[in-house]
Amino acid sequence: MTDRADAIVIGAGVIGSAVAFELARGGRSVIVVDKGPGPGTGSTSSSVSLIRFSYSTLDAVLAAWESAALWNDWEGHLGAADPDGMVRFIRTGMLIFHTPGNNTKRVEALWDEVGIAYELLDSAALAARIPGLDIGQYFPPKRIDDPAFADEATSQMTAIFEPESGFIDDPMLSAHNLAFAARQHGAEFRFHQEVVGFEQTDGRVSGVLLADGTTLHAPVVVNVGGPHSSGINRLAGVTEGMRIHHRPLRQEVFTVEAPEGMRLEDGFPAAADLDLGQYIRPQLGGTWMLGGTEPECDELHWVDDPDAFDPYPTVEQFEVSMMRAARRVPSFGVPHRPVGLAALYDVADDWVPIYDKSDLPGYFMACGTSGNQFKNAPLAGKFMAAIIDAEAAGHDHDEHPVQYVGPRTGRTINLGAFSRRRDKAVTSGTVMG
Ligand SMILES: Cc1cc2nc3c(=O)[nH]c(=O)nc-3n(C[C@H](O)[C@H](O)[C@H](O)COP(=O)(O)OP(=O)(O)OC[C@H]3O[C@@H](n4cnc5c(N)ncnc54)[C@H](O)[C@@H]3O)c2cc1C
Repeated sequence: MTDRADAIVIGAGVIGSAVAFELARGGRSVIVVDKGPGPGTGSTSSSVSLIRFSYSTLDAVLAAWESAALWNDWEGHLGAADPDGMVRFIRTGMLIFHTPGNNTKRVEALWDEVGIAYELLDSAALAARIPGLDIGQYFPPKRIDDPAFADEATSQMTAIFEPESGFIDDPMLSAHNLAFAARQHGAEFRFHQEVVGFEQTDGRVSGVLLADGTTLHAPVVVNVGGPHSSGINRLAGVTEGMRIHHRPLRQEVFTVEAPEGMRLEDGFPAAADLDLGQYIRPQLGGTWMLGGTEPECDELHWVDDPDAFDPYPTVEQFEVSMMRAARRVPSFGVPHRPVGLAALYDVADDWVPIYDKSDLPGYFMACGTSGNQFKNAPLAGKFMAAIIDAEAAGHDHDEHPVQYVGPRTGRTINLGAFSRRRDKAVTSGTVMG
């Protein structure tokens, strides 16, 4: 086994595998090291894998819209069919409920600019579109121990509906598909291998040190360690040059039986219920996935050590989530026991990812994915390859951010928007981005 490559990628999640694929496809020899047992077994395996376009900045909307085209033509994008099966993009459309003050004004303006179609639904149209929904407005979101949780609705909600959103049916398999495609271009994946340090030569990164005592050498190292990536950046000594920081946040997602007539198979869409503080994502097999949208009343659970967090959901959050669902859908049958998981987002200060170089030449990072970058994984691979290629050609991405032209729209995405040195972007400050 060789101990040298043109590039080492740390992490074989959906984004690490996408980076490996693009680097290998571009002609580099690539070694991917992951301390887990296979592709996508880190936070990717817990992803809700929702694909939506509702972001607060133009670059983020464009990135999600461009990326969806790659998921839609997955085999064409990969140039290969994984014999273990290929993921599917299941289209559901997405409802976003309005909160007082019109939370979707910015999104609507960006969609108009990019050409993303959507419908405005007044209360009557919303009620007619989704029979069984309580369209009462209860804003702001509350915990169930707040007596005001039981208050009557103050008015009736309106919403926007965007038809192209959906989800990927198996997030872990998507990383497997990307790893398979990367291997077709010669990339090598090494599992159960943990990076514990870095080698530097003449002020550049020149390799990684593994827990088993071996060293792998490469002039390019990319940190795609998911919730571990902030720790990896500290290990590499690159955090001082970053204005945007990122850290792990524990999140719970529940799986529940979908009410009669409100299943994926009945045409029930994904829904961002910012009025109550959670999202609903229909799932194959007659279930829903329920997760939080970080309303102010829900405490954020930051995690110091991503190897030591409780992976089981709490009864407290289960009850809050179930009562919110029951409030929105009166026919929802609250289950007796929690079924779901707890997993980690890697949250950046402004909930926008970091796709960038670092102050250590040769060391790059794709991290801070803030619970909302599964959808962008195919494009993140292309972004990273573009930045790495530009730097190799003598370009300074900090001084002159690389511009990426999306083939779907012909529009330019400024990769400086994902810089570690950016001013904090103005976003929702939540997973919605
Ligand atoms: C509960 C949940 C729901 C989500 N829902 C959505 C959604 O609906 N839509 C959306 O777009 N995004 C969503 N996301 C976000 C999305 O899933 C993540 O952004 C994405 O999966 C991150 O992929 P990754 O490859 O960067 O990280 P990971 O999948 O976490 O991969 C990192 C890999 O690095 C490895 N690693 C770590 N440290 C080391 C080391 N020292 N040495 C070697 N290997 C190491 C790990 O083993 C791991 O395999 C969600 C995330 C979570 C947790």
